[in-house]
Amino acid sequence: MQNMKTLKYFILIIFIIVISSECKAQTFNSTINKYYKQTQQEYNKFKKKRQKEYNKFKQNYLKEFSEFKNNYLKYLDRDIRSINLMTFDDKIHIIDLPLNLRPKKGESNSKKQLKLLNWEKYNIKKLEPSIFKEISKDPKKIISLLKDLKHLNFILKKTDKPLKKTIHTPRKPKRKEVSKNNIPHGFPTHYIRISSPFGWRKHPIYGRMKFHRGIDLAANKNTPIIASANGIITYAGYNDGYGIFVKINHLNGYKTGYAHMCRTIVKNNQKVKKGEVIGYVGSSGNSTGNHLHYEVYYKDQIIDPNKTF
Ligand SMILES: [Zn+2]
Repeated sequence: MQNMKTLKYFILIIFIIVISSECKAQTFNSTINKYYKQTQQEYNKFKKKRQKEYNKFKQNYLKEFSEFKNNYLKYLDRDIRSINLMTFDDKIHIIDLPLNLRPKKGESNSKKQLKLLNWEKYNIKKLEPSIFKEISKDPKKIISLLKDLKHLNFILKKTDKPLKKTIHTPRKPKRKEVSKNNIPHGFPTHYIRISSPFGWRKHPIYGRMKFHRGIDLAANKNTPIIASANGIITYAGYNDGYGIFVKINHLNGYKTGYAHMCRTIVKNNQKVKKGEVIGYVGSSGNSTGNHLHYEVYYKDQIIDPNKTF
């Protein structure tokens, strides 16, 4: 009987221990659940916020992207129009072409150029911002892409100049304008078309960017080139890539440069007047066709010649 009693107590004690440990486990579980719920809530909050940020970037990026596409297509269209304006193949546009675009025998340079531009236009039209698939985890990448796009749009807008369709003849200065004749003004030659404008040019999307220091005026060989203002010749002769080159100091902070001539008829230190012939259009130096490369400087800084026309 005594043994049975002891056993009963023993069982009771075991029972109490089991119950209390069960209670402890339950409180532990509920704490964990509470904690988990809390973190889940915070995580969701965080996720929501990130998603908002991401969506904002995405929206901006898409906007910038479509603007870029439009700007670039406009840029290409302008080049295509400029080629169509050509009355003859003046061999000015020479670009390294991919193998499949190499011209066939007898194909002109302008045709080659048109082919390249249309090919680029086709590629640009197809271009999609598929980029999001891979960068959704990295908002930093989106920011840098957005920056790149904004930069490209900036460049494209800068090169967006209206196309000249008429043939310009340098005009003779009137008497009233004599005082103005010390400042470069007007076109220095009778040109057919502007074959290359001032500034950043060509294939901004493919990274082949080059700064064009002047304006290229396509003209027939031997077309007279005139001084765009009164001044003193500071260079007349061969100058590497510039070929036969003339530089004039206009003594008021302005200087002008005339490159790729076939010949010049002025000498160093010679005084020239606005409208005076200084040489003739050619294709000397680093040139692929007859044109005048015209540069304007102000206080030794290169400036856009367009501002002086
Ligand atoms: Zn040039």
